[in-house]
Amino acid sequence: MNTALLDRLRTELDERRTTTGPRGDLVVSGAQGPTLDVSGRTLVNLASNDYLGLAGDPEVLDAARRALRDLGLGVAAGRVLCGTRAVHGELEARIAELVGAEDAVLHTSCFDANLGVFDALLGPEDVVLSDALNHASLIDGIRLTRARRRVFAHADLDELERHLAENAHARHRLIVTDGVFSMDGDVAALPRLCELAERHDAVLMVDDSHATGVLGATGAGTAEHFGLEGRVDVLTGTLGKALGGGGGGFVAGARAVVDTLRQVSRPYIFTNALAPALAVAALTAIRIARERPELRERLAANTAWLRGTLRDLGYEVPPGEHPIIPVMLRGGTLAADVAAALRREGVLVFALAHPVVPAGEERIRVQVSAAHTAGQLERTAAAFGRARAVLAGS
Ligand SMILES: *Cc1c(COP(=O)(O)O)cnc(C)c1O
Repeated sequence: MNTALLDRLRTELDERRTTTGPRGDLVVSGAQGPTLDVSGRTLVNLASNDYLGLAGDPEVLDAARRALRDLGLGVAAGRVLCGTRAVHGELEARIAELVGAEDAVLHTSCFDANLGVFDALLGPEDVVLSDALNHASLIDGIRLTRARRRVFAHADLDELERHLAENAHARHRLIVTDGVFSMDGDVAALPRLCELAERHDAVLMVDDSHATGVLGATGAGTAEHFGLEGRVDVLTGTLGKALGGGGGGFVAGARAVVDTLRQVSRPYIFTNALAPALAVAALTAIRIARERPELRERLAANTAWLRGTLRDLGYEVPPGEHPIIPVMLRGGTLAADVAAALRREGVLVFALAHPVVPAGEERIRVQVSAAHTAGQLERTAAAFGRARAVLAGS
């Protein structure tokens, strides 16, 4: 046992505990759903990414059970050896169809998809232009390429345009953005991003993890939301959020992009294939997401109601329409104190503080689902109303 390492880690853990407060994982009993059982209490769950409520959908669960029975649990092999099953290919085809791409390639998570995609597509002659608030997996994926990188301030497309002009000599310039940013629920300015990419002959890549299944009339994501179908070159997304929440990620795009990833994406090749039952669950979730547009309508209605009600209660809710609702509670431990008060009132939300968001931008993130009932949303609003007492005392 190397004591020097353990001593250093213990010291750093102690420091972390005093600066950010104790952080432990919440232990939930039972299944994912619009309510969660935590320590013997049932809380309204406004903290998951189960936007369409498909994680608990009986059809999704039955399909996964049948797949488990017929195809087994895991394949204990990578896709390029004997890990590929017919359901993997079917799911890739359905994902491509959903997002309007020529083809798609599965990974075991979107984190993995983002780790593999940059190094597979780019080299030292290329430049990546990345929004400062892009997801951690994009940041890490960019670190793994030999391409040069330029980070532009969040949503500052004037700065992006300067980087595009300054790097005109590069072989490829690849612009990458979250479709929907996870801390604010704000949607990327895709119309101008498409226009910039086309004018500068740059590649446009969007991580649509919070948008696939959620935005657009058919759930195709951010491009469909803006009527910009077919204008994104490389799209990554997850099956671990709206599309059943079981897990899995993908890269969709032109066949040459997808075929290249199958040949060289390291997190595609050097890892175990997605469990077939998860692939079947996602296939079923995609079918339901397309067949039942009323799920997106209910999600939009639930979101609009809660956004409006929280504002009426006097909370600062930045404008937006995504089911991620940031409730700004700036300064000190206010956001954490309100989140704790809400938990006592039977509502599960999390406070976000530095370093996840900048100091002074502390907030509670509320995430709405189509599965929330009117009663659950009213209970949530009532709890936020009573939590105003915490604000009054601060
Ligand atoms: C959640 C998320 C991911 C990671 O997805 P997993 O499939 O859970 O690994 C990647 N990018 C963004 C923008 C996300 O929100």
